[in-house]
Amino acid sequence: MANTTVELKELLMQRSLTDAQLLAATEAAEDFRILPDATVIKIGGQSVIDRGRAAVYPLVEEIVAVRKAHKLLIGTGAGTRARHLYSIAAGLNLPAGVLSQLGASVADQNAAMLGQLLAKHGISAVDGAGLSSVPLFLAEVHAVVFSGMPPYGLWMRPAVDGVIPPYRTDAGCFLVAEQFGCKAMIYVKDEDGLFTANPKTSKNATFIPKISVAEMKAKGLQDSILEFPVLDLLDQARHIHQVQIVNGLVPGNLTRALAGEHVGTIITAS
Ligand code: ADP
Ligand code: MG
Repeated sequence: MANTTVELKELLMQRSLTDAQLLAATEAAEDFRILPDATVIKIGGQSVIDRGRAAVYPLVEEIVAVRKAHKLLIGTGAGTRARHLYSIAAGLNLPAGVLSQLGASVADQNAAMLGQLLAKHGISAVDGAGLSSVPLFLAEVHAVVFSGMPPYGLWMRPAVDGVIPPYRTDAGCFLVAEQFGCKAMIYVKDEDGLFTANPKTSKNATFIPKISVAEMKAKGLQDSILEFPVLDLLDQARHIHQVQIVNGLVPGNLTRALAGEHVGTIITAS
């Protein structure tokens, strides 16, 4: 270990920070997970929160019950209000970095509402998921709510075409799970999982219980139930090697997924 540290230090002083030998040396240190016992769950914006009480109340109940056995980082999606903002802002020719800030404000609104509903159970919403009080909340009440949009803001990397921010709340929640080395990443949406086509518009779509990123791309499904950059993030991840998508409109699904059951679709790294 001592030699590795010396070698790494020398390489870092002398080489470009993208030098292959330097990068290999940075990988030599032992793996470390910051919050290995926590699971990130993303509550969909369009798919869940926008449905209001009928979808949200049962989920709140389930979260309150299940956190006795699990530590939860609860991220929120944005949804219809964000799409409305994107349509106005894109029509005004505003850039991706501005749309990113607008979308974040909607995920913030959803985190604020979910935080109010969970408040009497001692569960708080935090302004940023980056550490701060998050470990304390997880230790004491096993749950914390955060706004799912990654805080790139104006510095959002624009997509090749169009001004819609490519990294939205699916990506934001995934990155929290990956950086913290969490136990699992579960997306709570409004369909049973991934289908061969969008089940809302294709009657003949069939359910896919398990699939890899490579298989998804081969089937042309990369732009479907998750934001497509999440697939590449998953393929390159060190800690999170699969994500699970469950139907949050079916009571019990989240609990079963947290218990390690294969409900919904599991997408694995290639
Ligand atoms: P969120 O609310 O988390 O942002 P989205 O609404 O963006 O979730 O994504 C979930 C939606 O993706 C589903 O409601 C479904 O209509 C749509 N979808 C598109 N293609 C597929 C597919 N192949 N399988 C399942 N869902 C799909
Ligand atoms: Mg979405």
